[in-house]
This record gives sequence, C-alpha cells and structure tokens, in this order.
Amino acid sequence: MTVARDLALEGYAVTVFDADPKAGGFMRTQVPRFRLPESVIDEECGFITALGVEFRGGTRIESLKGLIGQGWDAIFVGSGAPRGRDLDLPGRKEAAANIHLGIDWLASVSFQHIEKIGRRVIVLGGGNTAMDCCRSAKRLGGEDVKVIVRSGYDEMKASPWEKEDAQHEGIPFLNFHVPKTFEHDNGKLVAMTFELVRAEFDAKGRRTLVPTGESDVRVECDDVLIAVGQENSFPWIERDIGLEFDQWGLPVLDKASLQSTIKHVFFGGDAAFGPKNIIWAVAHGHEAAVSIDKFLNGEDVNERPPPMVNLTSQKMGIHEWSYDNEITRDERYVVPWAPKELTLTSIKVEVELGFDEKTACKEAARCLNCDVQTVFIKDACIECDACVDICPMDSISFTFNADEADLRKRLTAPALNLTQDLYVSENVKTGRVMVKDEDVCLHCGLCAERCPTGAWDMQKFLLQTTKAGDGCRSKSKLGAAA
Ligand SMILES: Cc1cc2nc3c(=O)[nH]c(=O)nc-3n(C[C@H](O)[C@H](O)[C@H](O)COP(=O)(O)OP(=O)(O)OC[C@H]3O[C@@H](n4cnc5c(N)ncnc54)[C@H](O)[C@@H]3O)c2cc1C
Ligand code: SF4
Ligand code: SF4
Repeated sequence: MTVARDLALEGYAVTVFDADPKAGGFMRTQVPRFRLPESVIDEECGFITALGVEFRGGTRIESLKGLIGQGWDAIFVGSGAPRGRDLDLPGRKEAAANIHLGIDWLASVSFQHIEKIGRRVIVLGGGNTAMDCCRSAKRLGGEDVKVIVRSGYDEMKASPWEKEDAQHEGIPFLNFHVPKTFEHDNGKLVAMTFELVRAEFDAKGRRTLVPTGESDVRVECDDVLIAVGQENSFPWIERDIGLEFDQWGLPVLDKASLQSTIKHVFFGGDAAFGPKNIIWAVAHGHEAAVSIDKFLNGEDVNERPPPMVNLTSQKMGIHEWSYDNEITRDERYVVPWAPKELTLTSIKVEVELGFDEKTACKEAARCLNCDVQTVFIKDACIECDACVDICPMDSISFTFNADEADLRKRLTAPALNLTQDLYVSENVKTGRVMVKDEDVCLHCGLCAERCPTGAWDMQKFLLQTTKAGDGCRSKSKLGAAA
C-alpha cells in the first residue's frame, strides 16, 4: 500500500492484488483488534485507495510467471512471511483438530471464522505472536490460558511491554519447558508433556538448554496454539523464471534498491528479508517506489537520491529558544488501560486508552529534544570553560587528544558507555580539543546560553528521505528533459 501511495501521487496507474478481501495485510489479520481497531486500518488504507489506486481484494496471485506475462511495467511483491512454523512432535497429527498454528488462528479470529476456544489453552512460544495468541484466547473463552516456552523469562523474544500486558491479564508463563508430546484420547487432545531444562552459558555467552533430570511435566489442555516462529513462503513463484533465491529461500535482492534478479520485479517488507515489523515494511515501500519511479524513467535504480538534511539555529534571544529546553525530571507516564473486567469480555475492546490532554502534555515535556543538536564552532571558542562549568551532565571537556580508550577516562566525567560515540573537535587555540559525550547530553542548551562568544549553538536537525517523483531522479536527466 505504501508503494501504491507513493506511485499514485506521481500519476502512475497502480493495481494492488491481495489474497485477503481487504487491504492492510498482517495489520488487519494478525494484530488483534484490542490492540489496533479496524476503523484505523480502514481509514489509513482508505486514504490510499482514494488516490485512485485500484485494490483487487480476494485475488491471490498463483503464478508470478503469469503476472509477468500480463505485461505490467513494474511489479512490487509485498506478500509478507505468511507461514507459521509447526512442531512435529508425537501426537501432532492425531490431535490436529485442536492444535493450531498461531498466525493462521489469529487470521481466522480476525475474519470471525473462529469465535471461541477451549477452556484450557496452551500457547507455545515466547515472542509477540505468542502474546497476541494468549491474550486473544483469553477473550474467546479460554479461562485457563498458559504460555509455555523453552527459554527463560528474560530471553523470551516478546517485547517487555507485550509480556507485561499479558501478565496484567492474568496469563502465567512457564519457562524452561521444552515441548515433548501432544497427548490425545482417540484423537481428542487432552494434554502436553514437557521436559524441564535449565540454561547453561559457555565462555562466549552462548546458551545451551540442559535437561534438569526432573520428571517430565504434564499439562492438561483443550487447545494448543503454536507460535514458535514465522517463515517466508513463495509457492506461487516459479523457480525457472530467472528470479534467484538464496539458501534461506529469500529472493536475491539489491539491499538498497530492492530490485530482484528480474529487473522490473521488486520486493519489500517481510517478503524481502524475512519477518520484521510494520515501520520496516513501510520504509521498504518508500524505497521500492523510488526504484520503480527511476526504473520507469530509464534511470539507474542504484543511484539513490540523498536524503534532505537541514540544521536550523533555534536561538531567538540570549536565553530564548524556539524549543522547550527546560528539563522535566518526571518518570515515564504509563498509558492507561481500560478495566480488565471490560477488555477481557470482547476481542474488539481496545485496551490502551491513550493519554488525556494533561498527561500527554506532561509526557511530551519529558522530551529531551534529541533532534536539537549542540553545534560547536571551534574558531569562536576562547576556552573560558564557562560551558564546562554550567553543563549539568559534565558532558563537555577540554583536554589534549589521545587514543579513544585513554580519552574516555580523562573527561570531566568518564565516558564509559562504549556504544555511544564521542564528538571530538579539531584543535582549539591552545592545541587541546573539545570533547563532548553525546550519551549524557540533555540538549538543554545551557552551554549555548552561557557561552560568551556564541561558540555553541542549538540547531534543529531535520532528515527527510526522498520519495518517488522529481526529487529522486538524477539532475542530469531532468536537465536533459527540460
Ligand atoms: C501476531 C503478529 C503481531 C504483530 N504485531 C506487530 C506490531 O504490533 N507492530 C509491528 O510493527 N509489527 C507487528 N507484526 C509484524 C508485522 O505485522 C509485519 O512485519 C508487517 O505486517 C509486514 O508487512 P508486509 O507488507 O511486508 O506484509 P503483510 O502485512 O504480511 O502483508 C502481505 C499481504 O500480501 C498478501 N499476499 C500474500 N501472498 C499473496 C499472493 N500470492 N497473492 C496476493 N496477495 C498475497 C496477504 O494477503 C497480505 O495482505 C506482527 C506480526 C504478527 C504475526
Ligand atoms: S546541551 Fe546541556 S547537557 Fe548538553 S552539553 Fe550543553 S549544557 Fe551540557
Ligand atoms: S563557553 Fe564558549 S567560549 Fe567558553 S569554553 Fe565553552 S565554547 Fe568555548
């Protein structure tokens, strides 16, 4: 939909084929309604179709060869990573009726093909899909829903807030349980057994799960949801049409242009490099649209347009800035939830209520203005040390240059976070350098307020990626066209 949007705005005739009846992909079929109401997806996708994009829902493409044969000028493949990993354990086939692949089950819930689940539900897996599965099961009649996972709590792949949300809804996690068998009674699932393990780490920090030797654990259940991973799958792409795949079954692509080995076929989102997230897929969409626009204008898709970057001084007076530089030491505000008694009654009741206006303003006031940069103008500095004195974070030092390891120890406050770069200026007049530890800077602007010579300025940084259209085409071509 992102590619369609960018190209429709440039006047291209764009057709979207989707196997699902409505646009939105996994946002619609996987992300449960209690996290993302359908009205939001309808509105966002509606903005795009209103641009004149033709959306052909319920149209699964069964053959890329056939699609290419229809003569489209360019094709973008954004078919996602739609296959959930299975667990081939004893009893899997016999008890299949009550064992579901998490992502397929979530899609069926989203399409309202499934409206209830058994009373006792086991969710296998520790990622975000497992969290969506267990919370959905709880709303569809699962009274006793458990997440059972091989790893420890801290190593679970789910985001910390997703884990917290599930636990807030009363869902227990059983860690260090490795699934062993599905038990059934004449094909009716009755329980699962698990081997207990503990984590052992070698000198390089690599983890191995070692059996504890305790007896296996048997957990009774009516349904199991398997959420142990997700894979790419392209059964509809023929392997003899010149489109190369790598050893992981992913298309061979140029990382920047997203062009495949068939020059007018581009990929993006989960289909390109494996499952990730929505913003990643959208970013790919913008880049692929640039590639397609350049390709259709006979340009080299590898010549990528630079992003637009800009720095603007925020100074309005000696102590006046066009941004709010006051530091608020408030703790993070938690987004309020609707009461559990209400949210657990329906899959459609949104859980997060959002901030009210007053809290939103307080939360916004915590912003550290990381887009407003401290800019040091070395030639204006008279080395009076006033900025060093005023800085509340001891972020600034004037010292003689040295190896980074040595320099880090000799600053006003040692800079021990090696993941954060130091800014080291060229030599100032005494031959020393100004070193700034970006890790601790609050962007408060006190250094710039205090500096008697204007050697510090606070400048707002703007980065804007170039979208499809004139801006992404090479100047020489535009000149030639004119
Ligand atoms: C349970 C779950 C929860 C998630 N929650 C989040 C979250 O909270 N935040 C986040 O950022 N990400 C989340 N993700 C990940 C996110 O959904 C994906 O990374 C993102 O949707 C990928 O976008 P995409 O456009 O590449 O593919 P998709 O969203 O998967 O869209 C692919 C589309 O292609 C269509 N399609 C596939 N094959 C064909 C074919 N042959 N012919 C026609 N159409 C076809 C499908 O019908 C679908 O509409 C979640 C994923 C899962 C599984
Ligand atoms: S902006 Fe504030 S925290 Fe950052 S260097 Fe200047 S005085 Fe220190
Ligand atoms: S306050 Fe200004 S002039 Fe003084 S040391 Fe800092 S940057 Fe240099």
